[in-house]
This record gives sequence, structure tokens and C-alpha cells, in this order.
Amino acid sequence: MKVTPRHVGRISREKRTVSAMIRLYCRHHHSAGAEGCSCNALERYAHARLDRCPHGEGKPSCRRCTIHCYSPSMRRLMQEVMRWSGPRMVWRHPLMALRHLWDDTRR
Ligand SMILES: [Zn+2]
Repeated sequence: MKVTPRHVGRISREKRTVSAMIRLYCRHHHSAGAEGCSCNALERYAHARLDRCPHGEGKPSCRRCTIHCYSPSMRRLMQEVMRWSGPRMVWRHPLMALRHLWDDTRR
């Protein structure tokens, strides 16, 4: 079996995926500067959490992670974004989405 370095660049990959999902969600739910739009804050938060992830580049997918490092409110926001953007990512960013789904569904 061929071994691919799956752990390489995992953090930056998750950052890109998370940003794409948040942008997609925001475009459809909030107009520019809309009230209640905390998408920028959410993105900054998500990136900061990834930067500080104690698992580093060998991290599992965030959903499968045993450390729940998000605050409850950020966690709720992120879950909503993921639930909505997840299926739509398949059309916009097929490779990104497939990797993400793969990371998530493998248990
Ligand atoms: Zn927004």
C-alpha cells in the first residue's frame, strides 16, 4: 500500500477549509456588515485554536478530537456553519470537501 504523508500541513489545510466554509456560510446568511454576523470573529478564533492545537500537525480532525478546545458559544456557531456548508462544499471545493468528509467520517 502506498503511504502518503497525511499529517503534513494538516493545520494549514484545516485553516483553508474552515475559512472557505465560513465564507460560504456568510455569503448566504449575512449581507456585508449584517447585524449578528460574527463570521470574522469565528474565523479568527478557529485559526487561533488551530495554531494552539496541542496535537500539532498530527492532529485528528477537530470533530473527532478528544480535546474540546472551543468555547460553547463558538462551538455552536461552528457546528451551524459546518452543517450548512459541509454538503455545499462538495460542489465548490470538491477536493477540500472530500478530505474533510474523509477526516470526519472515519471512526
Ligand atoms: Zn457572516
